[in-house]
Amino acid sequence: MEKLLKDTKKQIKKEGKRAGVDPVFVKKLLFSERLLEFTVQVGDNYYSAYRSQHNSIMGPYKGGLRFSEFTTRDEVEALSMLMTLKCALVDIPFGGGKGGVKVDLKNFSKEEVETLSREYVKGVFPLIGPDVDIPAPDMNTNEEVMTIMTDEYSKIKGVSSLASFTGKPVEKGGLEGRTEATGYGGFVIFKQLCTLYNLKNPTVAVQGFGNVGFNFCKFADEDGFKIKAVTKREGGIKREEGVVFKKNKDDIFKEQEVNKITNKDILEMDVDVLVLAATEGVVDEENADKVKAKYIISLANGPVTRKAEKILHKRGIVVIPDILANSGGVVASYCEWIQNKGEEKYNKEKVFSFIKEKLSKAFEEIKKTEKEFQSDKKITPTKMATLIAIRRLDKSFKNNA
Ligand code: GLU
Repeated sequence: MEKLLKDTKKQIKKEGKRAGVDPVFVKKLLFSERLLEFTVQVGDNYYSAYRSQHNSIMGPYKGGLRFSEFTTRDEVEALSMLMTLKCALVDIPFGGGKGGVKVDLKNFSKEEVETLSREYVKGVFPLIGPDVDIPAPDMNTNEEVMTIMTDEYSKIKGVSSLASFTGKPVEKGGLEGRTEATGYGGFVIFKQLCTLYNLKNPTVAVQGFGNVGFNFCKFADEDGFKIKAVTKREGGIKREEGVVFKKNKDDIFKEQEVNKITNKDILEMDVDVLVLAATEGVVDEENADKVKAKYIISLANGPVTRKAEKILHKRGIVVIPDILANSGGVVASYCEWIQNKGEEKYNKEKVFSFIKEKLSKAFEEIKKTEKEFQSDKKITPTKMATLIAIRRLDKSFKNNA
């Protein structure tokens, strides 16, 4: 994902300049403090693995770890930069990190996934830890993977180390509400968007039905919003009266009178709000002209390219940035980490109210900063979110110097 890396660097450069911080400091943010590339073996096969530790000004590196056939070194580095910006934007004391293995899990057995997870930890072990770098789930990794990794880390270290990974199951030191946290955060932002832009009963389409997309749909559905279409990897369904959401995730795609819809067509649907919860770069300069929604919520990381966002902005379409909309996950991870360190206890209610507080505050700050630059017609929420993050990083850097 060369494009995402280029886009992210450009964004940092431009907004760093607008923020008026020292150009040398901005230059620092264009580089990763450390970028590890190694190899993991499962059976007779070898896979490229990465961990990017972009920046630790605000605290230990923090960020997910993905197993994906599309993972590249550039993608992981770009995502670690976005983590730095995300943590700074919502003001939690973490830096930015990200990891991944280039692997397609399609034909992997449970045992092979376990081997892959343990091998990853062996490769990255000397460079991670509860006060250094704390990985978490991301695309195609989940709480089982985090349990295996925590176990492997603790084994090598020789002591139980629950705070070395977040996103674990509750019974294994995890946090109530962590699984729903990113989807919940997206829903908080969606509700705030409705209030800010005075949207009454907006119609919604959701691309992506992994953990994040599914939980977003669950909260929106429970609150009475009509989700007209939802797609997963192989495509999905469209229902004029609203998709019926059932408890079992996969049942949603059967047992109801629906039309099929592709991942491409859902982007061009005539709805008020388009939620992008699948992957990066799905709206680009090729299809930005065809988007009919008036609002886009970026729940995945980097789903709208820079060029696309320019086109959308010109067309009056508001894009809510990923570093705000999907930050519920890392905010919950912060609670889990604090709890594992024995500093404070959290139940689900407390986690959700912390997410709501942090994300709402960041959204309000974006709106406030938009006013500061209102004479510039090219101002967007993404630009403002980046600018706020850079200012906070700069302040923290100066305070620590
Ligand atoms: N993978 C999630 C993200 O991209 C969560 C990271 C974390 O909890 O550390 O924000």
